[in-house]
Amino acid sequence: MPSVIVSLESGVGIQVITPGPEHTFTLDEENVSRLLLRDDVKDRVVVVISVAGAYRKGKSFLLDFFLRYMHHKYTLGDDCEDWLGPTDQPLKGFSWRGGSERHTTGMLLWSQPFKATLRDGTKAVILLMDTQGTFDSESTVRENSTVFALSTMISSVQIYNLSQNIEEDDLQHLQLFTDYGKLAQEQGSKNKAGKPFQKLQFVIRDWSCPYEYAYGPEGGERLLKKRLEVHKGQHEELQNLRVYINQTYEDLACFLMPHPGLKVSTNPEFDGKITDIRSQFQESLKELIPMLLAPENLVPKLIGGQPVKAKDLLTYFKVYMKVFNGSKLPEPKSILAATAEANNLSAVAEAREVYETLMKKVCGGTKPYLQPHLLDDEHGRNKCRALHTFHSKNKMGGRRLADGYEAKLVEFNIDYSQVENWSALFCANENDLNRKPPLEE
Ligand code: GDP
Ligand code: MG
Repeated sequence: MPSVIVSLESGVGIQVITPGPEHTFTLDEENVSRLLLRDDVKDRVVVVISVAGAYRKGKSFLLDFFLRYMHHKYTLGDDCEDWLGPTDQPLKGFSWRGGSERHTTGMLLWSQPFKATLRDGTKAVILLMDTQGTFDSESTVRENSTVFALSTMISSVQIYNLSQNIEEDDLQHLQLFTDYGKLAQEQGSKNKAGKPFQKLQFVIRDWSCPYEYAYGPEGGERLLKKRLEVHKGQHEELQNLRVYINQTYEDLACFLMPHPGLKVSTNPEFDGKITDIRSQFQESLKELIPMLLAPENLVPKLIGGQPVKAKDLLTYFKVYMKVFNGSKLPEPKSILAATAEANNLSAVAEAREVYETLMKKVCGGTKPYLQPHLLDDEHGRNKCRALHTFHSKNKMGGRRLADGYEAKLVEFNIDYSQVENWSALFCANENDLNRKPPLEE
């Protein structure tokens, strides 16, 4: 149990990506860094749970129940089943509301990182992400697709929140990722990276045919299977989409939610009190949420088969912002190139960190003077260890790309008067690194 109990009230949804004029997006690097580079967070593997889909379909509302669970389980360390909380209090967290205006824009992350230990003992941090409503009438298709695509690229669990059913359109929005998946796997098969995305969880709200497909995960699984069936008469594109969805995600699931009751959907005074929510909906929340958030069910984010740490996630955010900010939605090829770039940059950063840590141990600020030839020996040895770290990372983008980053990594210029400047010792300069080496064809 943590010594300081942090209340849900002390957290907020922090803006990570904001839509700007001309359908551009900006990354609030300061906000994101403050969360992802926290000393107690940066080296943990991330579990990123995002909720995406059309606006005003209860995404933020659902996320606020996620928050109740997270506080109960991870902040208070309470194992009892009764995590839905007090029945007479308004629902707090990511802002949600009635009325027809959009409330969330761009992408938000909850400011409180929840720490957890995965089944294999890995230390992880769970990040909850809310997104702007996609595919609504106010925003352009381009803007909406960008939020959907970015949140898919960044998350380990994408919750695709749909109203009433899974329509053909809903599946077609996944085409970009199946195309990306195909490309990534063509490369990944060389280094056994596995499927490019971890989990896609459909959540169907206001499901109205429980006699055909029952509420919950089993009915959902049957419905999803039905929707993903390949038929002879289907257009080839639709058939391919179905085939590739299965190959793109490690895990596909679907959950059918009952209607929450008229107070939730139509009463303007409704403030989220549990007493105003149909008990059947409450029961579904109690079933769905632990399936996604209980420690044994957490899914870490993997890119190129490697777990992503919080500090790496920042690199991915930065690189994706560049590629998603063009006038058109990027081609899968460009997204893959960006992923490979970030992937290599993370490996470089880790190698540098290894080098700096080792060098500081022998000649850091408090250490006695070390003769230049001994310093040189240490430098050589630690450089080798750092390069070993770089080589042992499974990197995307092929040999030539990695060789380019490696060359930058070893381009050093020893200046003993500046021995404190470790980066200069091992890696010429950061801007050099950002200049991309050629991509392997
Ligand atoms: P978002 O735009 O998708 O984030 O939607 P919000 O979470 O802000 O919720 C929009 C409205 O939908 C609110 O008035 C909620 O009370 C209501 N709502 C929440 N969950 C459900 C649901 O499962 N079904 C229906 N019909 N309404 C819901
Ligand atoms: Mg919302």
